[in-house]
Amino acid sequence: MKHIVILGGGESGIGAALLAQLAGYRVFLSDAGTIPAHWKEELKQHAVVYEEGGHTPEKVLDADMVVKSPGIPEKIPMMQQIRAKGIEVISEIEFAYRHAGKSTIVAITGSNGKTTTTTLIYHMCKQAGLDCALVGNVGYSFARQVAMAPKPLYVAEVSSFQLDDISTFRPHIAVLTNITDDHLDRYDYDPQKYIKSKFNIAKYQLEDDVFIYNLDDEAILKNLNNYPIKSTKAPFTMAKELPQGAYLLNAKMHLKWKNEEMKMSIEDFAIKGKHNQYNSMAASLAATALDIRKEKIREALQTFESLEHRMEPSGIVKGVEFINDSKATNVNSTWYALESMTKPVILILGGVDKGNDYSVLKDLVREKVKAIVCMGTDNRKIHEAFGDVVSLMVNTGNATEAVQAAFHFSNKGDVVLLSPACASFDLFKNYEDRGNQFKQAVRNL
Ligand code: ADP
Repeated sequence: MKHIVILGGGESGIGAALLAQLAGYRVFLSDAGTIPAHWKEELKQHAVVYEEGGHTPEKVLDADMVVKSPGIPEKIPMMQQIRAKGIEVISEIEFAYRHAGKSTIVAITGSNGKTTTTTLIYHMCKQAGLDCALVGNVGYSFARQVAMAPKPLYVAEVSSFQLDDISTFRPHIAVLTNITDDHLDRYDYDPQKYIKSKFNIAKYQLEDDVFIYNLDDEAILKNLNNYPIKSTKAPFTMAKELPQGAYLLNAKMHLKWKNEEMKMSIEDFAIKGKHNQYNSMAASLAATALDIRKEKIREALQTFESLEHRMEPSGIVKGVEFINDSKATNVNSTWYALESMTKPVILILGGVDKGNDYSVLKDLVREKVKAIVCMGTDNRKIHEAFGDVVSLMVNTGNATEAVQAAFHFSNKGDVVLLSPACASFDLFKNYEDRGNQFKQAVRNL
């Protein structure tokens, strides 16, 4: 019996373990940290053998194949030993894919906009009455869904880490929203390695598959010809008209795919901002490639509600508007958040910086931001980057202090925007916790 070892006991690791067990493998799950109690319970229920608090090399190296969770870096000693022994290593999506049978797969990746685009595509599929599941970052892991409730169609959000260890994963429709530097700490600070893993989404696609990508993205455009792509290309852009694909012209989205054509005013999109116009174009192309009817796509774009922690309106106090964009964990997200602002902004910025270059924000900050409230344990880089363009800058150490300071700097008609450009784990559990504490602090004003 083939012996599978799963590294990592998070949502994707547990999903992979359940799927492996059901598929009849001998399974062992190993986590260097502690596994939350409810997941341990689940493993026990399914008779999956596991360990926590460290990897036992003899047990792990006994594997015929290792399924590596996306959170596990390549550089840990256990991974190096696995590699040295030449054991096959695959990611959880690769594993799920191998057991997904003939189901259709739509996979979405990119530095920003993944969750929004994925949920929007899912919303379009639901609107069209398709039997489908949303997997990846939102909801179940792909492996868990395949194990517990297989579907004819999966809409999957896929991170670059998941794409690092694939060897056959072939989505019928692949979406690449954009590529900007992110997670470089996991890629030896080499942007090219990160770009390569993003392009992996199309690597095993065939002629009948569709590759949807952002034509306005410099990194995508520069690298498009470096990676052989067999699938049919469906670009989207705001810069020009296209014979096939999606483009924006005079505030209208034009969609052209095979013999289909559709136009829709961007005024009618439920989600606002330039970044969401990109996400809407990408999602509409995916839906068209799935043969979803124009009316359904239109309806879905009109009814899709914005997601929590992503440009989420979080209250108005004495004429000051509060917006929670806690999910903005890199500079590019914050750029789009600022770009969409039409009122003077008090910006709450900071946290754990993954190698940020703040200079790209400078022009927008100069134009729109009247005060910066730093919220992190180390704010030096922010002071260095913006000290000469914003005169009001203050350090805070939690969400309450940050919201109070921002409110203090604001006048009626201003916006307080939490769009930190950084990860959250210096002061918070995760970005959701940061966003929730921000909203609570606004309610307490
Ligand atoms: P991801 O899942 O890739 O992290 P989300 O859809 O959760 O992306 O959005 C995260 C943040 O990134 C949003 O709050 C928004 O500010 C920004 N964002 C969303 N879509 C885009 C896009 N297409 N381009 C740039 N930034 C975006």
